[in-house]
Amino acid sequence: MEKLLEQAGACAVGCVAVSRLRECMSDEAWLRAAQTTPGLKRLICAAFPYGPEHITSGKLSLYARGADYHQVLRERLAPVAEALSRQYPGCRFDFYADVSPFPEVYAAALAGLGKLGQNGLLITEKAGSFVFLGFLATDAELPETVGEIVPCMGCGACQKACPGGALGETLDQSRCLSAITQMRGDLNAEQAALVKQGGMLWGCDRCQLVCPENQHRTVFALPEFLPQPDPTEQDLQLSDRQFRKTFAGRAFTWRGVQPLRRNSEILKEES
Ligand code: SF4
Ligand code: SF4
Repeated sequence: MEKLLEQAGACAVGCVAVSRLRECMSDEAWLRAAQTTPGLKRLICAAFPYGPEHITSGKLSLYARGADYHQVLRERLAPVAEALSRQYPGCRFDFYADVSPFPEVYAAALAGLGKLGQNGLLITEKAGSFVFLGFLATDAELPETVGEIVPCMGCGACQKACPGGALGETLDQSRCLSAITQMRGDLNAEQAALVKQGGMLWGCDRCQLVCPENQHRTVFALPEFLPQPDPTEQDLQLSDRQFRKTFAGRAFTWRGVQPLRRNSEILKEES
């Protein structure tokens, strides 16, 4: 399992019994997981690296500079699921690339993939927090790689750097620029001021860029995640349909052109 996932590009791999995740899951999420994978026993967790290398400028969050991670992870996880099905005849391996019913960061930390950061992210040893998480849910009783949850060093730099004050005991999505920049429609004055302060068209990386645990990375972005051109001002004037077509396969298109166009207008406003 580990070897297959490493060959697929993962920089950290582990396996946890789903029973250990139950208390963190709603009844609805638990049901969805059980219906997708009847007899569900284990969750295999894998981290795939992206990163700030090769980025010189731009106003897109680092995760959105390359190809859409949903697509990339699906392409990398599908052959692993097939290979594992052959290795464990009669067992299921259902893969998830985001939007899984599981508490993803907690599960990955419990499976020993890395530390649990105060910024709410998993921090792997090799690629820091610049990773996308992928999962394979299975009814096979694979050996667990469970460790205890290991917290980050708790320096508080991420909290200090957060423009919205979104990092407390938990992440307050309503104050996080990663969420606000993706909202559709008009923003209220407070949200618009935060976007202006963040200076980004899409997302925010500050709590990752200041993290000392990210300074000693040894594994860097997979080829698909190397940066492609940002949308220009002209691109932001395209119709929604044209914009989606022009930037198909990028992670920032799922809400269409409107949020980016609005954010761009906010950034251009005089202070
Ligand atoms: S992504 Fe930005 S706004 Fe959100 S918690 Fe991190 S620093 Fe704060
Ligand atoms: S900046 Fe400090 S407190 Fe925040 S996640 Fe990194 S190590 Fe933890």
